[in-house]
Amino acid sequence: MKLLIMGRPGAGKGTQAVNIKEYYHIPHISTGDMFRAAIKNQTKLGLLAKSYMDQGTLVPDEVTIGIVEERLLEDDCKEGFLLDGFPRTIAQAEALDKFLKSNGIKLDAVLDVNVPAEILIRRMVGRRVCKNCGATFHVEFNAPKVEGICDNCGKPLIQRADDTEETAVNRLSVYDNQTAPLLEFYAKKNILKTVNGDQPLAKVFEDIKVVLGA
Ligand code: ADP
Ligand code: ADP
Ligand code: ZN
Repeated sequence: MKLLIMGRPGAGKGTQAVNIKEYYHIPHISTGDMFRAAIKNQTKLGLLAKSYMDQGTLVPDEVTIGIVEERLLEDDCKEGFLLDGFPRTIAQAEALDKFLKSNGIKLDAVLDVNVPAEILIRRMVGRRVCKNCGATFHVEFNAPKVEGICDNCGKPLIQRADDTEETAVNRLSVYDNQTAPLLEFYAKKNILKTVNGDQPLAKVFEDIKVVLGA
């Protein structure tokens, strides 16, 4: 299964990606996670990405496209993959198209997790992530068993640097301006599958399995 997952910041892409990855046995490739790992490891890429991420703006296309193409050429992507958070601009989508064509790869579906913008600030500001294993929680909507502690690995949960109200507002407008046009791009190819992301987590995943025909 070769998939893209799209949706506004905070829509639940990462949360559903964990389910999809386990169910279909495909690697989860998140550009946001790749940038956060680079920041943690203080690499050149991390230094560059941080300045954009802190503002809620996009890391330049040429940098982002390069790291995704490199990742897709790794062996574990041969049978399938789930791209999360990429593409985010028309230029990225066109570059991805060209790359897939030249490597004889065809996408099975583009999932759009649709959530109205109004409720997303609360989702982002309440998001907590595990520093150690990357698991995602929410203080109200998906609370860990023990406050501030990861259910999976017992390590402390943190708040992402860009999950402030101000940056969240910016990210939503960046999405409307630069990423929303991609829905039309994929609808024209007849591979866009929209699910209602404004439902309980488990129900969203049930709907994803239905639209993917599994
Ligand atoms: P969210 O899950 O809230 O949508 P992500 O983890 O996907 O956030 O992305 C966090 C930040 O990383 C973005 O605001 C942006 O700065 C950067 N980023 C992630 N993916 C891309 C991309 N495809 N192109 C440019 N920047 C990106
Ligand atoms: P994205 O990767 O699209 O930015 P996340 O998967 O990180 O989004 O989810 C954003 C926040 O919203 C997290 O705190 C997550 O626990 C919570 N969340 C995810 N899906 C739902 C849902 N269906 N209902 C309520 N909260 C959700
Ligand atoms: Zn953990």
